[in-house]
Amino acid sequence: MENMRAIISKDNKKALSNNSTHGSNDSLCNCRSKGTCPLDNKCLTSSLIYNAQVTSSTNNITTTKNYIGLTKGTFKQRYTQHKTTFKHRKYSSSTELSKHVRHLKDNTINFNIKSSIIARASPYNNSSKRCDLCLTEKLMIIKHSNCNLLNKRSKLISKCRHENKFYLRNN
Ligand SMILES: [Zn+2]
Ligand SMILES: [Zn+2]
Repeated sequence: MENMRAIISKDNKKALSNNSTHGSNDSLCNCRSKGTCPLDNKCLTSSLIYNAQVTSSTNNITTTKNYIGLTKGTFKQRYTQHKTTFKHRKYSSSTELSKHVRHLKDNTINFNIKSSIIARASPYNNSSKRCDLCLTEKLMIIKHSNCNLLNKRSKLISKCRHENKFYLRNN
């Protein structure tokens, strides 16, 4: 786990220095109470790859699982969707993260989720014809594959969802 933390904090420094060119931290968070921000007062950052670290403990044994995801919109929008899938059983199989959270809830295991930015990348655009956001997510999943990832290997062959939006308005 130390390795994972070292990698994440290194990537975070990069992400932080990217952010600093886009204004102060205040404009990157609109949470009413800064202590409750789901992304360390940077929840309005968009086009990013994040790691959600779920720490749970049972019988004094602490377990840490990591989930890597991406969002084209702001992290806050994405996290709101995640929260819905944690709350309602009918959405609990939406992601590997929501499946894990449902398992913890069903077993009344206390847990804590801490998210961080591990990379930033541009989504699909018509001139480049490629989606760095999806590519980078896959790279991050490979890079962190020994870090108790919840992600399934099948995510590595999933198709870009951002390309479609140029044809359909369903995303
Ligand atoms: Zn915030
Ligand atoms: Zn994509």
